[in-house]
Amino acid sequence: MSASVQRSRGRARTADQRGGGTGEKYREMSVAEFFAKNKELAGFSNPTRALYQAVRELVENSLDATDAKGILPWIHISIAPVPEPSQGDGSRPRYVISVEDNGVGVPVTSMAMAFGKVLFSSKYVIRQTRGMYGLGVKAAVLYGQMTAGTPVEVFSATKGSQYVHMMRLMIDVQRNEPRILEKGEWNKRGSWHGTKVTLTLEGDWSRARSKILEYVKRTAVIAPYAEIVLETPDGEILYFPRTTRRMPKPPKEAKPHPHGVDIEQLKSIIRSTRAKTLKDLLVTEFQSIGEKTAVDFLERYGIDPKLKPRELLRKGRERLLRRLVDALMEYPFRSPKSDYLSPIGSDIIEIGLRRMFAPEWVGAVTRSPKAHRGHPFIVEVGIAYGGSIESRDEPLLLRYANKIPLLYEEREDVSYKVVSSINWKQYNIDFPAPLVVLVHIASTKVPYKGVGKESVSDVPEIESEIRNAVQEIARKLRIYLSRKAREQEAIKRSITLAKYIPEVALSLAYFIRPPEKWQPPREEEVRKIKESLIRLVARNIDLPPIDGESQDPEEIVRKIVESVQLD
Ligand code: ADP
Ligand code: MG
Repeated sequence: MSASVQRSRGRARTADQRGGGTGEKYREMSVAEFFAKNKELAGFSNPTRALYQAVRELVENSLDATDAKGILPWIHISIAPVPEPSQGDGSRPRYVISVEDNGVGVPVTSMAMAFGKVLFSSKYVIRQTRGMYGLGVKAAVLYGQMTAGTPVEVFSATKGSQYVHMMRLMIDVQRNEPRILEKGEWNKRGSWHGTKVTLTLEGDWSRARSKILEYVKRTAVIAPYAEIVLETPDGEILYFPRTTRRMPKPPKEAKPHPHGVDIEQLKSIIRSTRAKTLKDLLVTEFQSIGEKTAVDFLERYGIDPKLKPRELLRKGRERLLRRLVDALMEYPFRSPKSDYLSPIGSDIIEIGLRRMFAPEWVGAVTRSPKAHRGHPFIVEVGIAYGGSIESRDEPLLLRYANKIPLLYEEREDVSYKVVSSINWKQYNIDFPAPLVVLVHIASTKVPYKGVGKESVSDVPEIESEIRNAVQEIARKLRIYLSRKAREQEAIKRSITLAKYIPEVALSLAYFIRPPEKWQPPREEEVRKIKESLIRLVARNIDLPPIDGESQDPEEIVRKIVESVQLD
């Protein structure tokens, strides 16, 4: 019996591979092979994008290992051409990219997998991080392997360890496993902790240059608490010093919210939980459910609170499981907690925008948390106007998601959709105008359109929050601009009047004495009359306060008077 089953299985497999007479050939593909064959899905579509994307993935990992862990980031990025002799064979230019940080480091036990197995990550938890797919650095390693044939080299030390560990490895594409070529460890000198990753790949620096510089610049806008050094293949060194030591508080790890759960997720929670009853499971495994809520919820849907969670996995219980998931989505639980998010904060956004654009006016807001499908999110918007910002035909849009600058696919992004649909005239802005709009979406689940993480889908809840945030700051800008216009109008009027003050004062000075005693008036007398006239004119001009500070109209009129030359 068993032999015949075996045989029939064996036959089935061969038939499968032959395609059961269909002429098709069937086989399985590892995820490493899948991404090696579909590089563009991860953002590695050509040598320009690849160079940019590799830098981006490494920098994002460095930032996740620092600011998300409460460490003020220090990041050193170096991009260098592979020296000539090895390039003299007519092959395309290759570059060595190396990124070093002062982050928490990678434990040696996970090092090979973290850099050598696609879809291996420490970020598969509900927490706001830049990385989320467990793909980024491996996509860069794969691209390096395919275009330069070289391994990735990693040095890393964690805080607790006495050693610095090194590994050079490649990815076994067929098996999706790391292949370690060399490893070593050294006793730590001092207390260094962090990671340095180096890889070589084919790239096009001359085309990627502007994007990479822009990426680093925009990172510095949103993380003014980071110190970033960028060494370019042209021998330039760009240094972005830390301009504040204030840093957003690191995100905490969250439990899932009941509104976002699905059947598969609930099953895996049931498999791993220690809760003995359904009620305990709800309280311990979900956020926003306390004892009272759990009891009320189960009563409302007539589900037994004492039910053993594992019972739900038994055959014949599928309907109950489905009903439970529907109920979880429907019941009005408290909104997801925003403690798990790490917004930048309006003050840091303003610091960043001021430093990068030296604008005339800046405003920013961090909105209160909202949720989309059980995932909390916060929208932040900053607007900068005037000063050294160049006038353009539309606002310069700086898009960020979980603190990552997004540079490509602008027109597909929800922020672009909102910002380009705003009627800026309503806010006293006529294009071309010097306007920068920064939009940041922070969430435990950013709905990116692709794994390359370049644009965000237009989820209605997020879209409307962005609109509200932009409008909120734009209204403040309008108040500033209309005050400024009124001020300029008032100054224009006072100039017309003030111009005459010196001459009028001189003439009036004669009237101090009766006509028979007229003589050239003394300077002191003319000055006193001038002062009275200045007060008179100043009283009649209305200078609105700018940025909350009132201006002294007398000062302004006096300055005008002083600048008038009498013949
Ligand atoms: P993701 O960032 O989405 O998790 P990656 O493939 O980019 O995926 O990285 C895999 C894992 O390697 C990360 O989850 C992290 O644990 C670890 N890692 C990568 N770079 C660093 C770094 N510079 N410092 C600390 N850990 C890192
Ligand atoms: Mg990553």
